[in-house]
Amino acid sequence: MNVLRFSDLCDQGLARGRRVFIRADLNVPQDDAGAITEDTRIRASVPCIQLALAGGAAVMVTSHLGRPTEGAFKPQDSLAPVARRLAELLGRPVALKSDWVDGVDVQPGEVVLLENCRLNKGEKKNDPALAQKMAALCDIFVHDAFGTAHRAEASTYGIAQYAKAACAGPLLAAEIDAITKALANPKRPLVAIVAGSKVSTKLSILEALARNVDQLIVGGGIANTFLLAAGLPIGKSLAEADRVGQAKAVIAAMQARGAGVPIPTDVVVAKTFAADAIATVKAAADVADDDLILDIGPQTAATLAAQLKAAGTIVWNGPVGVFEFDAFGHGTETIARAIAESDAFSIAGGGDTLAAIAKYGIEDDIGYISTGGGAFLEVLEGKTLPAFEILQQRAQG
Ligand code: ADP
Ligand code: MG
Repeated sequence: MNVLRFSDLCDQGLARGRRVFIRADLNVPQDDAGAITEDTRIRASVPCIQLALAGGAAVMVTSHLGRPTEGAFKPQDSLAPVARRLAELLGRPVALKSDWVDGVDVQPGEVVLLENCRLNKGEKKNDPALAQKMAALCDIFVHDAFGTAHRAEASTYGIAQYAKAACAGPLLAAEIDAITKALANPKRPLVAIVAGSKVSTKLSILEALARNVDQLIVGGGIANTFLLAAGLPIGKSLAEADRVGQAKAVIAAMQARGAGVPIPTDVVVAKTFAADAIATVKAAADVADDDLILDIGPQTAATLAAQLKAAGTIVWNGPVGVFEFDAFGHGTETIARAIAESDAFSIAGGGDTLAAIAKYGIEDDIGYISTGGGAFLEVLEGKTLPAFEILQQRAQG
């Protein structure tokens, strides 16, 4: 993907003395008193800010936080706690500026945080007048918020249209590189695992991947719908009978390309959906009317693990079982460890997928863990994200 990179501009000395506007994702979780409970996103935004400061720029940073009402400030919408945490991490003062759209006073070597950008009227609708004012604040616009890359808002899209220069920050660039490596120029075989609870939420992902991948592995509730499509019994398991036709179409699309969608041969069932339910391994054909399929069986997991170890590239979204209950986590753990041990380049994303990666402690053995939940899923759907589109357009002229 051809986009301008902020690190290149800094290397060439082009940020020196310039006004740089960074759109970061500092949308951290907070408790009722406003204290930050988890600061990963703030820490992840530090390298871009440091790059700008080391490059001699006057640095403005903004982000959204929560879901404020545009034009109606409430104290809980303030980035003040974020400014304090950022100052600690950078080891320098970070002043918070409110009402910043018409002008920001900042000198080279300084960094200021611009109050919650979703408080500005017209932000969500990508109002051109607002975007032009924001663009006028800077010489260089840096998009470093992958989590919002699937949205076209004034501080993520319009500003990139009108700013003198628009480029990708290091966090966004890393996502672009990983996505290109996994989906645009993958080392084959490219194996995708699409699992999780519901087929309906991931149908467009399955359809898009069926056009590109060499093997499409399904798991979790999604696999149950595919078992149903294959005419197998699933008892009381989570499945979407109204999606069987679409599941069959995905299988047909893969078969037309000489590939397939492996259906679990064995499963782990329980009589109730509970952490202490008794787990029983069964052949997929033997599932009883009162059974709930809560995981793939050991034979299926071992077969899939062998395929993953032989892959050139792996794309993973979704746990293959109810991994939150240890008795039904073996399938997900086996898959996770196979991905970790595989020589393939792997990319993983999704809220629960990240929780599974953390549970099995394999963070360091995944090629790239995507930080943007919704944005990552849209990439898998084959969509061109607005952020990528506008940055490519700006790189051309
Ligand atoms: P992600 O957030 O990674 O995209 P999803 O939200 O689609 O993943 O799905 C994750 C959820 O799916 C987990 O909470 C898990 O317990 C559930 N799940 C997986 N397999 C099953 C199953 N067989 N039956 C019911 N729920 C399942
Ligand atoms: Mg989820």
